[in-house]
Amino acid sequence: MILVSESPVTWQGFLLVSKLLYPVGYTRCPRVKVKLVMPNYPSFDEAQISFGKHIAFLRNEKFSREVKNSIKSQKTVLSFLSQLQLLIDKYIHNTDNKVYIPFDFESTKDFLDDIKAALQNQSDVQLSCDRNLNTIKLFLREIFLTLQRSKNIDIPWNVISSNMPENFKKVVVLSKNLNAVVTKFKWQVELLEKAWEQLKEIDENCWVIDPPKPNKCHLHRRIHLSQSICVTITIDPNAPTVVPTIQFSGSDNEVKRQMEDTSSNIHNWDPDCNILDNLRMLLNIYIFPEQQDSLDESQGVISNRQCGICFFELSETDELPNKICNNQKCMKHFHSTCLSMWLQTNAANQVVFEHIYGSCPHCKEDISCPIEC
Ligand SMILES: [Zn+2]
Ligand SMILES: [Zn+2]
Repeated sequence: MILVSESPVTWQGFLLVSKLLYPVGYTRCPRVKVKLVMPNYPSFDEAQISFGKHIAFLRNEKFSREVKNSIKSQKTVLSFLSQLQLLIDKYIHNTDNKVYIPFDFESTKDFLDDIKAALQNQSDVQLSCDRNLNTIKLFLREIFLTLQRSKNIDIPWNVISSNMPENFKKVVVLSKNLNAVVTKFKWQVELLEKAWEQLKEIDENCWVIDPPKPNKCHLHRRIHLSQSICVTITIDPNAPTVVPTIQFSGSDNEVKRQMEDTSSNIHNWDPDCNILDNLRMLLNIYIFPEQQDSLDESQGVISNRQCGICFFELSETDELPNKICNNQKCMKHFHSTCLSMWLQTNAANQVVFEHIYGSCPHCKEDISCPIEC
């Protein structure tokens, strides 16, 4: 407290409040701005106290009455201030106000200014918030991002939900204020739109088996090429037409053949063309196979895509079967985790370079897969 005037005697400063209110990792002290005017100093007669603007819950009749009573009974400024401290603590803890209680009262105004600035941001991003200003939703075309205030002073927003790809959500909220978040959100959506365009073309022209229902947060596509092989591509949204991550899964023979073809064609990849045309060139396929119900499924037998060991399509980690038996007459699909466990049950099976070699559980042909625990 500083003496700011001698007639009348006026003290001004900050009152630190309960340390119990410290959120973990929070470095600044919660404080309340106060001004004490004592025209008859050192007597408390006609003394007045006022608080900083942003402490709505202190504008409470009962609280004011208690403060007045406390003023009457005081002898020294110090004892008054310590009693006031206790009172404020009490009101913070007992308040019926279920609305978010700002732990740093001085920052509440900054927070409101922040929202105001974001609302004035001249971008196409639509902004909406709930009544308590607790969650804020950003919306641009089909993309949304719902944020909640966090107690972290460096990253004041947490992502509650969004249909943006994982990494992009994180990038967007790495900002100190909401206005910057809105601007980043817009940039990221604009960047991603180029990637989504490429993926849409794949969805329209290929049989995509994974994700089963692609949406905006998926940047990968597993494409059916034949009964014995499929390819998974994952594109880089920062450069959507450059060579994506390419992974084949299927029977050993087919995977080997496709990898050889791919490595001899890869130098023809043209980033000025779209992904679909580049894939056609790379895989030597002009028309991708259309989606069809598997023969087995129509006969009511287990579907072709189910794992021949656990009989599920998706593994515990939501993976589709990625091994297919080499035998053209068998072509059973397996999760490599299931197959690896199956092959390990036979002590006679050999392990070479982290791969285990044995025979297909269905047709007894040779089969191998990476050892997985
Ligand atoms: Zn399985
Ligand atoms: Zn087999």
